[in-house]
Amino acid sequence: MGATEAFTATTEVGHFINGHAVASASGRRQAVFNPATGAVARQVALASIDEVNAAVAAAQAAFPTWADTPPIRRARIMNNFLVLLNQHRGTLAAMITAEHGKVFTDAQGEVTRAIDIVEFACGVPQLLKGDFTDQVSTGIDNWTLRQPLGVVAGITPFNFPVMVPMWMFPVAIACGNCFILKPSERDPSASLFMAELLTQAGLPHGVFNVVQGDKVAVDALLTHPDVKALSFVGSTPIAQYIYETGAHHGKRVQALGGAKNHMVVMPDADIDQAVDALIGAAYGSAGERCMAISVAVLVGDVADKIVPKLAERAKALKIKNGMELDAEMGPIVTRQALERIEGYIDVGVTEGATLVVDGRGTKVPGHEHGFFTGGTLFDHVTPAMRIYKEEIFGPVLSCVRVHDLKESVDLINAHEFGNGVACFTSDGNVAREFSRRVQVGMVGINVPIPVPMAWHGFGGWKKSLFGDMHAYGEEGVRFYTKQKSIMQRWPASIGKGAEFVMPTAK
Ligand code: NAD
Repeated sequence: MGATEAFTATTEVGHFINGHAVASASGRRQAVFNPATGAVARQVALASIDEVNAAVAAAQAAFPTWADTPPIRRARIMNNFLVLLNQHRGTLAAMITAEHGKVFTDAQGEVTRAIDIVEFACGVPQLLKGDFTDQVSTGIDNWTLRQPLGVVAGITPFNFPVMVPMWMFPVAIACGNCFILKPSERDPSASLFMAELLTQAGLPHGVFNVVQGDKVAVDALLTHPDVKALSFVGSTPIAQYIYETGAHHGKRVQALGGAKNHMVVMPDADIDQAVDALIGAAYGSAGERCMAISVAVLVGDVADKIVPKLAERAKALKIKNGMELDAEMGPIVTRQALERIEGYIDVGVTEGATLVVDGRGTKVPGHEHGFFTGGTLFDHVTPAMRIYKEEIFGPVLSCVRVHDLKESVDLINAHEFGNGVACFTSDGNVAREFSRRVQVGMVGINVPIPVPMAWHGFGGWKKSLFGDMHAYGEEGVRFYTKQKSIMQRWPASIGKGAEFVMPTAK
């Protein structure tokens, strides 16, 4: 389906295999909604095992030539892709808003962060440089090089249908691998458009493939002997399943999971800056970000100053169809997700938290069937409550009151997730102590959503990441390549006679 063709409720979003769009052969399909209207917008194909096998076979066939292509030529294709992405950034952002629901300006930001990774991948010749030691022994040199793995797969969540796949495939492909993307079945259209742009950029057929689908497709990738590595981003139970099953089948796996991100506000922080940060980070993208702030940890007397301001701002959020340019918060991705989020608000009330702002039942005029909820704010939340412990993944901010910095760090460190965290303070020593002691992978000091830039790499700790390597950055290059060490000498330097002892430098 091209970007310019009109979608209807029966339009199928199919697969992309060996350089071509492929309609579903299995006949299995699932509805894709426009969350702002609640209407079925199109159907997504759900791949069978045979369809996954066809994609893996195409990728496997393309691999030897692609792996042998000089990195600089691979980088030039990435550069062509970069140019096309910049030309079509508006189309991609509109595709995101139409199926995910996030506001268009936020979708544009997602596309920009995705483009950052492509820019990074364009530098792959530099990133693939090996190391070299002259004369490790007389007449002998030793060097290392990094080679691609083969066919690798990416399984991605609904909440960043462009950025998260691009955390993976630009780096994987630039390193010489062939890639199979299994996007979220809730917002699948952007994956096909990215495939079309890669083809226009000159990527050989079979190097990038898309299979739409559900657990059937994922399980087929997890067990396929020709898939050498899997990158996953999604919820923690599925991340753990992917990690364990992939490892059991001998694959390299990085599986990024869920989150419960805290933001500490110290008494010396600028309160108005902290309010702005909390409102944007808790309610931006309707809280459907793995780096959203869902817990405000209010130290000392901060709570009494900040909660009334947060309440005023949460009530005033402009909740609209994300395509309206002044919208601050769009709908939730599906009705099921909306019901889960509002169910958690019921739980919070039953558990005894103070419901300061109630977003349940919010209706947007002209969009009565859309999947909308308002911004919700709880105060006096305790660590024993489910709304504190579990990931809600919606626009619900819980305030927890603590006495001091130590109590806030102990609280955060006791949580099972460790994706992102922030501390707002004007004291450099507090900032330093906090960043050193907190058991979380990505830390922001007066930065509410510290998503690392393309060349730094992204990854949480604890149940927010299963595996050893972070996504993108140099860790991404390491993940998608294996190191080989070569030791070499030439006949003129070879001594006489067999050696029966461990060789040492001579
Ligand atoms: P999800 O776990 O439901 O789905 C992610 C992917 O797994 C999808 O492609 C889906 O088709 C597939 N999947 C779902 N159930 C499966 C099963 N039983 N077996 C095999 N595959 C299955 O996640 P989601 O709802 O799409 O995304 C939201 C979640 O992703 C949140 O938990 C969020 O925190 C997390 N997330 C994490 C990061 C991170 O970097 N740590 C980034 C974005 C999103």
